[in-house]
Amino acid sequence: MDRANYVSPIWTQSAYDDAPLSIGHGQTISAPHMHSTAMEELLPAIKKAAKEKKNLVRILDVGSGSGYLSVAFGRLLAIMGIADGKVFGIDVVEDLVDTSLQNVKKEDGDLLSSGKVSIRIGNGWRGLPSEGPFTAIHVGAGADALPKDLCVQLAKGGRMVIPVETAGGYQSFYRIDRVALSDDGKFHEEDFVMKELFPVRYVPLVH
Ligand code: SAH
Repeated sequence: MDRANYVSPIWTQSAYDDAPLSIGHGQTISAPHMHSTAMEELLPAIKKAAKEKKNLVRILDVGSGSGYLSVAFGRLLAIMGIADGKVFGIDVVEDLVDTSLQNVKKEDGDLLSSGKVSIRIGNGWRGLPSEGPFTAIHVGAGADALPKDLCVQLAKGGRMVIPVETAGGYQSFYRIDRVALSDDGKFHEEDFVMKELFPVRYVPLVH
């Protein structure tokens, strides 16, 4: 896939730089190294789920922005032969959702027409319970606290990567594994293993 399809035309010249670029509305398409780090972190959970229950691989991309990462996950599922796997992108800014769909249609429209990738308006604090549980959740904006509604949408064995604010207003990239499933559907800390990976700087996950 071509990153030039996912940046504003004025940034085409910089499309292959390893840097975030403006996509309007004060938002950016993340730098390629962050996209790849996020995918690499989520890959083991996707591989495991694919082995155990091929058709149930579901990926949620919160703050889908340009649409680039949702499509990258869609291509990954195809490469891995996960025929019925699905990627759901959600973003709070309607205009970005519209633009991202136009971006995808340029050269990756097959993923939309096949239903492998869909992008819609949605709030990451609430997630997308109607399409869960998810094998993998990527959050592309910094949360000021752990979004518990999102955590409970992880399938058992599922993994989420998310930037979360730490003490002192800094952000860290966290990996969260769901190791157990409580019956009541509520958030229980002991169902999750949380690991702080490294410091990051993302735009806020708005309330
Ligand atoms: N990962 C994307 C975009 C990163 S910018 C890319 O690389 O293109 C962060 C995105 O998160 C923005 O598009 C912003 O609109 C979105 N966002 C911020 N708060 C959100 C929320 N509560 N729910 C869903 N999306 C949100």
